[in-house]
Amino acid sequence: MYNPKSNKAEEFISHEEILSTLEYAEENKNNIPLINEILKKAKEAKGLSHREASVLLACENKDKIDEIFSLAEKIKQDYYGNRIVLFAPLYLSNYCVNGCIYCPYHKQNEHIPRKKLSPEEIRNEVIALQDMGHKRLAIEAGEDPVNNPIEYILESINTIYNIKHKNGAIRRVNVNIAATTVENYKKLHEAGIGTYILFQETYNKESYEKLHPTGPKHNYAYHTEAMDRAMQGGIDDVGLGVLYGLESYKYEFVGLLMHAEHLEAVYGVGPHTISVPRVKKADDINPDEFDNGIDDDTFAKIVACIRIAVPYTGMIISTRESAQCRQRVLKLGISQISGGSKTSVGGYFKPMASDEDSAQFDVSDRRSLDDVIKWLMELGYLPSFCTACYGSGRTGDRFMEICKSRQISEFCHPNAIMTLKEYLNDYASEETKKIGENLINKEILTLGGLRDKVCENLAKIDGGQRNFKF
Ligand code: SAM
Repeated sequence: MYNPKSNKAEEFISHEEILSTLEYAEENKNNIPLINEILKKAKEAKGLSHREASVLLACENKDKIDEIFSLAEKIKQDYYGNRIVLFAPLYLSNYCVNGCIYCPYHKQNEHIPRKKLSPEEIRNEVIALQDMGHKRLAIEAGEDPVNNPIEYILESINTIYNIKHKNGAIRRVNVNIAATTVENYKKLHEAGIGTYILFQETYNKESYEKLHPTGPKHNYAYHTEAMDRAMQGGIDDVGLGVLYGLESYKYEFVGLLMHAEHLEAVYGVGPHTISVPRVKKADDINPDEFDNGIDDDTFAKIVACIRIAVPYTGMIISTRESAQCRQRVLKLGISQISGGSKTSVGGYFKPMASDEDSAQFDVSDRRSLDDVIKWLMELGYLPSFCTACYGSGRTGDRFMEICKSRQISEFCHPNAIMTLKEYLNDYASEETKKIGENLINKEILTLGGLRDKVCENLAKIDGGQRNFKF
């Protein structure tokens, strides 16, 4: 029985409700009056239900698809302006006891080098990341209670936050580790994490169990209810995602929106972010072996429909995707991207020879962070290293409230300008710096009441001060 308020995975992600939604979407995919009605509602930018959004995803009418894309672009512009937040993943350990068949860290893989960073190695990685200009990290680890217990993750977070090197600082650590207990989520919350991210991989229970044949991750309900436990542990910013390619994308889309509706119904706050990873080639993993790969057009349509369905949820794309693909979806809804990423344990400090490479998957966008920043600005975006909401307690429902009322731009825009200025002064190449200074001069003209204060702070940044925020 479908019940968004239930605390049981199989009730808030009801297989029957997903099938019935897919049937409804299929029946109505060319129902122009209904699609117009849904688009009219979507234009209010208050979001759509999983049923409504699924009709848009199924729609095959070219004109209506164009309207969907234009509306996604408009919502993106209205809520996020031209700002794009930057982050990098930091792989702490690839020890893992699970048997996920799409991931090279699976336990049966005996030839991938297993590594776990020591505090000294974390320091080296973080200094390398700080020297690139990063301020926000997503830490990643396999699931292994012996090698990567929660204490190891907590110690690592503490090490990361305490590394002060030149003008660098990691100001927000997001965490992507396996589903855990309420007690452990409490500890993560106390350690000052930003968002807790956990990809569902697939919402289809039967497929989920086949894709995760062994290890603790096999337990569908425990994995699917993880965000509930995270919220109960005090973490109010959670990040959802499915791994596209494993199951039918239409099924995943419904499941993902139902998950968001569940969090909103029970905790009064939807997901902080949604990531859109696709399965990639990796050591002993061939993505072609999964039947549900999606092409770039479908991928763009998914991003646009998520943007319309949950306008106030940030959307993340990683370097799994090429520069070309990232460029296309940036304007349709993506608000955060990684740059200069390495998916190997220890890969930032020391480039890996192929026989010692522990990479989780092949990265498609291999450009440096500086190149990514320059590219974003040339496309008309304002790169942001802002972490202010987190530092100012604007998380969970407080964040959502100001986001829904669109007041968020009043903080984000000046913060983006000031953190870009820090980046330009401390880390950018000459060419990037020139483009960035011109952009900042243009952007400050668009500021309202805070313009004088921002100009004052920009001068102070030139004078050597750092970490200004609203
Ligand atoms: N081990 C943690 C867990 O169990 O959720 C998460 C960390 S894992 C390093 C992060 C994510 O990488 C996984 O949730 C999965 O979606 C993704 N991933 C695994 N194998 C992949 C592949 N071959 N291509 C792309 N992404 C992959």
